[in-house]
Amino acid sequence: MPIACSYYVTTVCNAKCGFCDIWEGPAHKKPKLVSMEHAEKIIRGLKKLGVRYIDFTGGEPLLQRNLPELLAIAKKIGLKTGLVSNGYLYPARAHEFIDLVDSASFSLDSSDRDRHNASRKLQCYDRVIESIELAKRNKQFVNINFSVGNENMDEIPGMMALAKELRTVVHVMPMFGYFGNPALDAELTRQLKYLHKQPYMSVNLAAIKFQAEGGNDPEKPKCKAIKANVAVSQDGKYLLPCYHAAQERMDIDVEDPVGQWKSPAMQEHIKKSGRYDFCKGCTIWCYMTPSFMYTLDSYFLLQAYSYAKDWAKLSSNRMRDAIKYGREVTREELIAENQPVSVLGE
Ligand code: SF4
Ligand code: SF4
Repeated sequence: MPIACSYYVTTVCNAKCGFCDIWEGPAHKKPKLVSMEHAEKIIRGLKKLGVRYIDFTGGEPLLQRNLPELLAIAKKIGLKTGLVSNGYLYPARAHEFIDLVDSASFSLDSSDRDRHNASRKLQCYDRVIESIELAKRNKQFVNINFSVGNENMDEIPGMMALAKELRTVVHVMPMFGYFGNPALDAELTRQLKYLHKQPYMSVNLAAIKFQAEGGNDPEKPKCKAIKANVAVSQDGKYLLPCYHAAQERMDIDVEDPVGQWKSPAMQEHIKKSGRYDFCKGCTIWCYMTPSFMYTLDSYFLLQAYSYAKDWAKLSSNRMRDAIKYGREVTREELIAENQPVSVLGE
């Protein structure tokens, strides 16, 4: 049964990153979001399956007008929530997410404004910096997602300095090679190991080992997409085996989620994940890192160690943020401060 879900609340994005094809794909067809009543049934069903954490992602999830309602449904039934965003719209919408997001991740490719904006083809650097402060003020666990590829290894010192300045943990992940781009070279990947000893820097040692050793092997797959992390689309389908290589979009049976999960068709999909030809060398982290939790081996142990270190870094930041912001403002004041701004243009 899955412990995590990647909920793709939109397939459109306002950025045009060179290392991602979401913005230029069939995504622009914009599948319709299911009704909130239906979404609640889906999310309740996911909980019955064992899901404890839902990452609301995309595309750019903040382009989804109904995101606060989806988050509220998940929080109402006791699930942990995460948000992964390029930060462009967060300052304008922050007031909508108070008490609804447990952890917020904002992406940065460089500590240099121009380089980051050029990489994203979106003027979002300043908004990411503002988003980080706002999310901390709104009592969310905040981290910066920093994907390291062959071209931006030289950004690491700058990111370390920025992390210190912002007192925010930078989550460093080796770039995976899925959208026709080369993955971070094996030797360069190994070089990232030292970062786990640096304050404010977080690396998953299991991910480093996995990528340096060539990623997923379809003969002996580590990937447990579906079983560990199930992908759900905005129009109420399971994306099987994963968002990036969906072979089937299966309607979610909201009346009998457990029965559907145990069905031969779903079990067949679970069996096949990680075993397709296109799975060779894959390191798509949102599926791979939850997969490491399912087998007691060196990846499991390295990841557990890395997470424990991260947790300590994030918690000490959170404590410091609580001291800085916690007693200063009430929820009502936060809402009043973050005045609604119409940004979606829909
Ligand atoms: S912000 Fe994220 S979803 Fe959008 S183009 Fe960049 S990597 Fe892709
Ligand atoms: S190995 Fe990669 S492409 Fe294959 S199912 Fe897993 S996440 Fe998807």
